[in-house]
Amino acid sequence: MAPLQDDKGTEVTEVSIPKRPISTVVFIIAMQTEASPLVEKFQLAQESNSVFPNGVPWVRYSGKYKDLNINIVSPGKDVVLGVDSVGTVSASLITYASIQALQPDLVINAGTAGGFKAKGACIGDVYLASDVAFHDRRIPIPIGKLSTGDSLDMCPHDEKAIVANDATVKDMEGAAVAYVADLLKTPVIFLKAVTDIVDGDRPTPEEFLQNLAAVTAALDQAATRVVDYINGKNLSEL
Ligand code: SAH
Repeated sequence: MAPLQDDKGTEVTEVSIPKRPISTVVFIIAMQTEASPLVEKFQLAQESNSVFPNGVPWVRYSGKYKDLNINIVSPGKDVVLGVDSVGTVSASLITYASIQALQPDLVINAGTAGGFKAKGACIGDVYLASDVAFHDRRIPIPIGKLSTGDSLDMCPHDEKAIVANDATVKDMEGAAVAYVADLLKTPVIFLKAVTDIVDGDRPTPEEFLQNLAAVTAALDQAATRVVDYINGKNLSEL
């Protein structure tokens, strides 16, 4: 590939950040329950003219909020099982397809997560993750503060890797979204609201389902604050 050049023809090694306010934002949200309150908050409408391949269950809502073109993209319901298509495979695909089709200035992966009380996480806390990594790939490199794998539970092997590497929150999409956004050189923010305490006493599925609706409201408020904050700003100001 030819080296990048700036407008004076000088070679530059990094992709430059546009010096204009952020205009298009894509939220990647795994579950319908997580997405619905934000769709209403920003008064978005479901797009019937899909920019995605025919037949996929992926759903896009879009509209204008303040000065921003906001899109919320969800993987939709699994065509066979009828459940939300959570996890890394769908998250990667919709992130890739959305960046290709919509060319956003910024991607925001918003969702719920398990939190570690040993790191101070409580139900309903919302984290802006500073770092992300996969925990179920057995590659012994340090992992980040948001740890992603394709399971809701935590086997002892994963626990060792996650705890030893200092993670505060654990989800099923973040690192996949990070991987694709990085491939396509698109900035990304991770916003994760704690539905369950991973190192607590209660079974995760039970605690997750019990708190999902209330914690989604906290996620919704935090996402609105993030969007209000980025409105009118350049990426370099974030
Ligand atoms: N029962 C749901 C599946 C939920 S999977 C269904 O029918 O579709 C859990 C979702 O919440 C994932 O999107 C994941 O990112 C997030 N999550 C919440 N708590 C988690 C935890 N402790 N570990 C991993 N992911 C968690």
